[in-house]
Amino acid sequence: MQLPDIIFKFHLLCKQMRLTNLMFADDVLMFSNGDATSMMLLLPSFSTFSKTSGLKVSASKTNAYFNGVPEELKRTPLVAWSTICSPKEEGGLGIKDQKIWNKVMVGRLVDWVATKKDSIWVQWVNVNYLKGRDWKDYTASPNSSSVWRRICRVKQELSVGYSYGKWTVQPEGYTPAGCYEWLRGSLPKVDWYGVVWNNWNLPKHRFMGWLLAQNSLHTNSRLLEFGMDIDDSCYLCGLAYETQPHLFFECLYSKQCADRPGSKVQKGVQTAMVMGDHIAAMAAAEQMQS
Ligand SMILES: [Zn+2]
Repeated sequence: MQLPDIIFKFHLLCKQMRLTNLMFADDVLMFSNGDATSMMLLLPSFSTFSKTSGLKVSASKTNAYFNGVPEELKRTPLVAWSTICSPKEEGGLGIKDQKIWNKVMVGRLVDWVATKKDSIWVQWVNVNYLKGRDWKDYTASPNSSSVWRRICRVKQELSVGYSYGKWTVQPEGYTPAGCYEWLRGSLPKVDWYGVVWNNWNLPKHRFMGWLLAQNSLHTNSRLLEFGMDIDDSCYLCGLAYETQPHLFFECLYSKQCADRPGSKVQKGVQTAMVMGDHIAAMAAAEQMQS
């Protein structure tokens, strides 16, 4: 049966190409308040969704984003986020920087247009935005959509990576992983990497070692600096301030443990000399700054 024309209308920017949809997506976005009650309601709803549809939420493919969290719920991180997002070899935890990654994924669209990928979306962009103009010199109109302006801003940022319309940063062309590394920039490998991230250490000790290397352990001396009303002497010997160098390298009790014949700590202490040098260098740098 022919439906009356009045029911169906093309979107204004899709009329020329007679498009009814631009892209398919199989992701589900859930929006919620960030309070505990909302979370308690949200989690059972995933279970209900799973039972009725037969589909299961994939934890490994799921991301949670928080916005508008009250100041009192925010905590000062132990280590700067930029450091956490560095690879372990460079002193971080190897967590992906989502801000850069988002730019990388937008950059993929930029590359599609630059390389004239055979896609409906690229054709749509050419018909409605570029209209025969060169992508390299194109600037978005202030009246265009925020999404399109964002894509054009990323194009501008990535422009140094292009030569004659081709991505030249990697020989194989634009890849998200390659672009991420290029945008992130790399730092030299830290000398304590093998001391912390090795198979001998338990996961908990690896994390403690990493915090130690970042000079971020909450020792008594550090807590006192934060304004807490506590005794800042060492809990193990009671003879000195509880600082990182004292706890690991100077404390008499620690030394006794390390000096016991056959002690597993002995080997750890020997290898931790690298860490000791690193901490001494950090302390010297701190003194220079203050
Ligand atoms: Zn001590």
